[in-house]
Amino acid sequence: MTVEPAGESGEDDGDSVVYDLASDCTETDVEQDQPYLAEINGIVDYGVFVDLSDSVSGLVHESVLEGTYAVGDELVVELEAVRDNGDMAFEPVDIEEYTVEPVSHDYTLTGTDRLEGNVGDQIHLEGKIVQVKQTAGPTIFHVADEQGVVPCAAFEEAGVRAFPAVEVGDVVRVTGTPEHREGSVQIEVDGLSTLDGEDAEEARERLEDALEERAEPHDVEPLIDWPAFEKLRPNLKEVAKLLRRTVLEGRPIRVRHHADGDGMCAAVPVQIALERFIADVHEDEDAPRHLIKRLPAKAPFYEMEDATRDLNFALEDREKHGQQLPLLLMLDNGSTAEDVPAYETLAHYDIPIVAVDHHHPDPDAVGELLDAHVNPYLHDEDYRITTGMCCVELARMIYPDLTDELRHVPAVAGLSDRSKANAMDDYLELAAEEGYDEDRLKDLSEALDYAAFWLRYNSGDQLIQDLLQVDGNDEERHRELVSFFADRAREEVDEQLDAAMPHVEREELDNDAHLYRIDVENHAHRFTYPAPGKTTGEIHDRKIEETGDPVITVGYGPDFAVLRSDGVRLDIPNMVSELEEEIPGGGVSGGGHLVVGSIKFVKGKREDVIDALVEKMADADIDEELSSAALIDD
Ligand code: MN
Repeated sequence: MTVEPAGESGEDDGDSVVYDLASDCTETDVEQDQPYLAEINGIVDYGVFVDLSDSVSGLVHESVLEGTYAVGDELVVELEAVRDNGDMAFEPVDIEEYTVEPVSHDYTLTGTDRLEGNVGDQIHLEGKIVQVKQTAGPTIFHVADEQGVVPCAAFEEAGVRAFPAVEVGDVVRVTGTPEHREGSVQIEVDGLSTLDGEDAEEARERLEDALEERAEPHDVEPLIDWPAFEKLRPNLKEVAKLLRRTVLEGRPIRVRHHADGDGMCAAVPVQIALERFIADVHEDEDAPRHLIKRLPAKAPFYEMEDATRDLNFALEDREKHGQQLPLLLMLDNGSTAEDVPAYETLAHYDIPIVAVDHHHPDPDAVGELLDAHVNPYLHDEDYRITTGMCCVELARMIYPDLTDELRHVPAVAGLSDRSKANAMDDYLELAAEEGYDEDRLKDLSEALDYAAFWLRYNSGDQLIQDLLQVDGNDEERHRELVSFFADRAREEVDEQLDAAMPHVEREELDNDAHLYRIDVENHAHRFTYPAPGKTTGEIHDRKIEETGDPVITVGYGPDFAVLRSDGVRLDIPNMVSELEEEIPGGGVSGGGHLVVGSIKFVKGKREDVIDALVEKMADADIDEELSSAALIDD
């Protein structure tokens, strides 16, 4: 109980004091053996009902009453008893002369970290509204304070919005009772009001300071010692902070990743790290499921189809579930000029975008549109630092407890993208310590690729986790599943190549590189595994074994070509922009890595485009010093 200085009739020092509860006072402000000013609000045979505040009222029994009373009369009472059912009984205090002392409510706050110990007791909480979901029953306000986020259920009428003036972003004071509900703690709301003026400002400042502090990523020792990687670490830390902050703000996160081995080695650890952090922050058990979605992207860039679908889902979730618009996290994807139209689509709304990628970037094109961008090329490094390697460290900065489950993942990522990084030896050794020899890792990489192909537009959350053996526990099934998929993948590649190899055409280029061409549309099975990109890659690998470097392989269809090269200094993104200009009406677009990529064009210009392409390849320098990249990229 907080007693403020007397407001009225305080002139007579000898007077007794009677307390006057402010309208927002609750039962907790009422003390035994103290007189309170009450107002009669009803008269019945057995006594009168009195109000001490908006929520404190009770009965004065007729047996203790004298005289006559009318509704609206003032009466000085003290607490006689609180009955088992919670009803309060008062008795009159015989007192003529008194001083009134106003009592304001004691708003001692109980943080979301102390709800469990206060289940069943009324508490107060201050925080920011991060989501307002209308159910068929109550309205659920998700409130974030310094420690976490808790759902607060306010009931007006079934399906009717309670406190309609209160919106996402408001700073509020909630009075209510924590209760267990389906394994989570939820607050049953008695009162909810928007703070304003100085109170709001103070609360906002306090919440912001706490948010800033909690968003700070963990300082983790890198899994391996790798100076080149250290250049990316400050950027990754920024992204870790941004993602942790996004979770603390209750904003959903949508992850789009390249649908290949490296892309999944990047996205799955980050997804799990975020899910676990969300579970720590949110009282609502279902929060991880509702706040993070991982989705594969078939192309090595953000396609308009994906962007418009993502936007549509985000707007629907805002409408249906009162969620904030999401943050978009692009992994192993999202660094190039081809991403721009999709990004510009999202830029019409409040959707922050972050990209972690190792495809050759076009920072001038995407820089303005991204809230954060991590890419080894921005630090004079290259694709050999794969996105999976980056994202294992990112996941550990977000949720370090995950580390023991991730030690084998960078090696899988590196093998999937055929990284020739010096650090691969260290990563392989790290994986070997966990029982993953190179064959097992290669199987894992094949299996991921195979699963990604058949999952198409689905994330396959559990299946991929079982394959990658992250957050998993059935080791035997994991091993069997991986070998089964890896064997199937290899058989299907063999079948595809049995059909295709006899149709591969060979040509000697002016720069002495071997050029192999294959019409994958007519001489390979369609709509099955492996897809044209991987088919071309497998042919390429076999030809290198046959003839040695330098080798370029082109797999083409009616309106596309896939390129792979070894030992030749190609710059595919640059070749694409030259072709765009040199072949009017060719409709040329594309990109990818420097030496591995794909090009699209219009069907009627195929001959012109491919002839021009071959000329450019014949002009390219031979790479003497190292047989360079050999990445798979559909
Ligand atoms: Mn990659």
